[in-house]
Amino acid sequence: MTPEPGAKLTTTWSPGVAGLPALTVHRASGRHPGPHLLVTGGVHGDEYEGPAAGSEFFTALDPNRLNGTVTVLPVINVAAWQARRRRTPADDGDLNRAFPGDPAGSPTRQLAAAVFATFVPPADAVIDLHSGGTAIMHLPMVGVPGDDDRARGVLNSFDHRFYHWRMPDVAGVFSNEAHRAGKIAVGVEWGGGGLLDREGVTALVAALARSLAALGLGDGGFTPPKLEGPPTLPALAGDYQGSPAAGLWTTTAELGARITAGEILGRLHDPLSGQTTDVPAARSGVIAALPHQAWLPAGAPVAYIG
Ligand SMILES: [Zn+2]
Repeated sequence: MTPEPGAKLTTTWSPGVAGLPALTVHRASGRHPGPHLLVTGGVHGDEYEGPAAGSEFFTALDPNRLNGTVTVLPVINVAAWQARRRRTPADDGDLNRAFPGDPAGSPTRQLAAAVFATFVPPADAVIDLHSGGTAIMHLPMVGVPGDDDRARGVLNSFDHRFYHWRMPDVAGVFSNEAHRAGKIAVGVEWGGGGLLDREGVTALVAALARSLAALGLGDGGFTPPKLEGPPTLPALAGDYQGSPAAGLWTTTAELGARITAGEILGRLHDPLSGQTTDVPAARSGVIAALPHQAWLPAGAPVAYIG
């Protein structure tokens, strides 16, 4: 999987899990030694900016302008990707709750174990690209689990549209577990709704290019636009809020607006039972994600308030 110095290579790698397809692995070896950056997308199979940005970043990357190694896994959950679903079809598992995995567990946990054991130990830094998937729409967000000063340069490689975000410490999340394993680990969100936002892809490729330089890997041949000063958006923390019931969802809440705990976030209505449920915001903060689909199952996110 590792090319000669100054070269790039695309191969496939089988996780060795029955019924799960091989992953595409892009790797570039720099002319000179340096850190190893791992860029990942498609942990959820219905998110498109990350896989598109990872692929375009690798295509444009010049290994002769690189010190160190870049590995790009454009799509980690290939079976979910092929099904255009968030979760692994074989067991309905959420891969982003399954890391560092279990070689004796469900197919999703086996996939998590194989990917984590193979690709995380050699990396110094991990940038995991997500979007809201078909179900929700996210503000652009870039964050680390808790605090990590080592990640500052990567966080500051994302432009003024990205909210800085203190990720909640949720077990099984790829960037959380990579952080726990001692890596610089950054999680990113952009958009969602099952769409592909070109503006997001361009912003992510530029941020990955700046991250190379910030991590000491050279410029990779990129000349991304200069950033216009430090970020001015408020920092986010918080978490997802789940729906208390199933129903048709209506809201006048908007992404980026502030909401106060107890204020009505939206309304659920079931036309069959006639039941209507007002959903108050569980905490105060900036609305960083909202549903993109009309029908919400019970427990599905009604918002990310950060
Ligand atoms: Zn995701």
